[in-house]
Amino acid sequence: MDEATRNELLLLRDLGYTHLELAVGRWPLAEGETTTANGQQPTANLLGDLEKIALACEKCRLAKTRTQVVYGVGSPNADLMFIGEAPGRDEDIQGKPFVGRAGQLLTDIVKAMKLTRDDVYIANVIKCRPPENRNPEPDELEACRPWIRRQIEIIQPKVIVTLGRFALQSLTEKSYAISSVRGQWLDYDGIKVMPTYHPAYLLRNPAAKKEVWSDMKKVMAELGIAV
Ligand code: URA
Repeated sequence: MDEATRNELLLLRDLGYTHLELAVGRWPLAEGETTTANGQQPTANLLGDLEKIALACEKCRLAKTRTQVVYGVGSPNADLMFIGEAPGRDEDIQGKPFVGRAGQLLTDIVKAMKLTRDDVYIANVIKCRPPENRNPEPDELEACRPWIRRQIEIIQPKVIVTLGRFALQSLTEKSYAISSVRGQWLDYDGIKVMPTYHPAYLLRNPAAKKEVWSDMKKVMAELGIAV
């Protein structure tokens, strides 16, 4: 077995796979569909297959209190991915990320970037709501990390925007202070990462919106969108 295959199998094990359905994916591709780097499957199939497994995840205590797993939404071929912290009450009920008040602000930010929510991909580092919106625990972040990692690996965005401290720290596994790295390009697996403030923070501190907008202008420039 080659190393890449072995790594893939180890990842699947970490994600909770106990057996593999070796069904053949949609092939050849429909018009407009793209594949992952290995050219095997359309990204939408891979994301959808992963979602089916994620929806049954019971790897941590949050499975007991959640209403729904909040996996992620948007384009499987997105150049831009937004990564937040964890679902809140509205997200837990609707099963979609960023649909509450902070979500409305994120939608406004996306629109200001001349994009729509369907152009980008939005997900969280924690897929199930922590009770009473408490901070995620380190073991919950660790249990959930393989999902976001695999989502990124499948989508292969050009840019990732992390929203707030938990998204940044969990993705990079570094204890960055958001105030010191905000607005500076970081790297995740060869993908450019722009750390910025969480929209919920902006609701409490509207004056910080100008810093987020300055960060988003850097992202737009990187993606070739006229500011
Ligand atoms: N805050 C987040 O970090 N994610 C959501 O999905 C909603 C609010």
